[in-house]
Amino acid sequence: MAIVGADGFHLLDALAGQTTPRAAAALPSVAVLRRVWARHFERAKDGTGGACLGPTQGRGPGDRVESPYDADAPFRAKSSTRWTGYMVHLTESCDAGAPRLVLHADTTPANVHEASRTAAIHTALAEKGLTPAEHLVDSAYVSADHLIAARESHRIDLVGPGRRNLSWQTKIAEAFSLDDFAIDWDRQLARCPEGAESTSWAESTKHRGQRPTIRVGFRAADCRTCTSRHRCTRIRSRYVGRVLALLPRREHEALAAARMRERTEQGRHLYAQRQGVEGTISQAVRAFGLRRARYRGLAKTGLQHLATAAALNLERLAAWLTERPLEPTRVSRFAALLA
Ligand code: SF4
Repeated sequence: MAIVGADGFHLLDALAGQTTPRAAAALPSVAVLRRVWARHFERAKDGTGGACLGPTQGRGPGDRVESPYDADAPFRAKSSTRWTGYMVHLTESCDAGAPRLVLHADTTPANVHEASRTAAIHTALAEKGLTPAEHLVDSAYVSADHLIAARESHRIDLVGPGRRNLSWQTKIAEAFSLDDFAIDWDRQLARCPEGAESTSWAESTKHRGQRPTIRVGFRAADCRTCTSRHRCTRIRSRYVGRVLALLPRREHEALAAARMRERTEQGRHLYAQRQGVEGTISQAVRAFGLRRARYRGLAKTGLQHLATAAALNLERLAAWLTERPLEPTRVSRFAALLA
């Protein structure tokens, strides 16, 4: 690797030299090579012209180009999964009494976050005349802004668990989380589960152009003597009461309504229909090789995904017309033991 790195630097130095024709140094492939080398190699500090692999830790997001053969295919780490390439977002129908068909395949470089595709997918579905009344998605595609934009721009009811609030109050069943407080927006007042009313309401923005947050404070004297204090706040000071951080009203209410639906039987039943897409991805991976990009570049990989979606649909239509039943959902032996 050290020799490969040193050779690469040698070549790049030569290309940057005075004697190299400008047209050669300006080739797009040279620019890609430069980015790849900047990401993977470091010059030896002893001035010998050697090189070594750069550290993989602490590289940060930066320029995630991995290979000079495909500059569209960046690196991504998501939980314990790491890969280089692309990401595909499949949208399928789940109407009762009809075959489940893939309606849209949206392909992006791997490092494009799911959240940035919700609106793009809705626009694409609208252009095809396939806007769903309800769109069941996983939490990565849901935020207050997405809920509002889907409803207002496309009349889509976006259904999915909002990203988790990570405060300790949401992790302990008996603790008082934000949802346990009644908010009176018109009076700019919050009432806690013990009946105390907030005494301060202040809107602030950390950075210019950023969405404001609202901090709502309770009187320290109320919280100090409250018998439920241990369920509500861990603020040590006796002189500070519970403080809530709220999004602006529209966003707060959109998220609160989504969370409320999640807890109802009807909401759970509705969202359970989304499970089918796991089978679709599994079928696309196992039967049609979705996990591997056959071509280089975003455009061709996107085309591959469209072909895969078309093949899935043909297979499903054939199954539907020949009345071939769906495979039952597999239950692991461990889960079967627990049942
Ligand atoms: S600690 Fe304060 S805000 Fe929390 S329940 Fe008690 S009185 Fe209400």
